[in-house]
Amino acid sequence: MTERRPNRTLGPDHDTFWSYCNLGEFRLQKCNTCAKVQWPPTPMCNECLSDQFTWTPMSGRATINTYCTFERPYYKECPPPWEAVLVELEEGPLFMSNPKGFSVEGRPRGTPVKLAFLDCEDDAGPFKLPVFELA
Ligand SMILES: [Zn+2]
Repeated sequence: MTERRPNRTLGPDHDTFWSYCNLGEFRLQKCNTCAKVQWPPTPMCNECLSDQFTWTPMSGRATINTYCTFERPYYKECPPPWEAVLVELEEGPLFMSNPKGFSVEGRPRGTPVKLAFLDCEDDAGPFKLPVFELA
């Protein structure tokens, strides 16, 4: 089943990210100079200012950093209560997402989670959204 979602951020670097997601691959930019993995995508490394990256597959392993539950409707596609989770990827970056198949309430920081993809759709068409389920 496809879930309707608010429109994604699209553009030069983001389009590459979503193209990999749609292939079922979770890849982020890894700097060719200093090896830092970064999110969100940018044209320049946050660490060393290099503009040379490789879109590198992530392990999909992460831990819960923090979370929140929206009690007000900010997007019609996301009726409250709407849970969002900030995970820390094994490779370092923090990544905002949604929990899949569990509630974040009461989950301690450091709870292991793993990547999954959710079939979604926005004004630009269908896409696969990276979400996280309990590991
Ligand atoms: Zn760098």
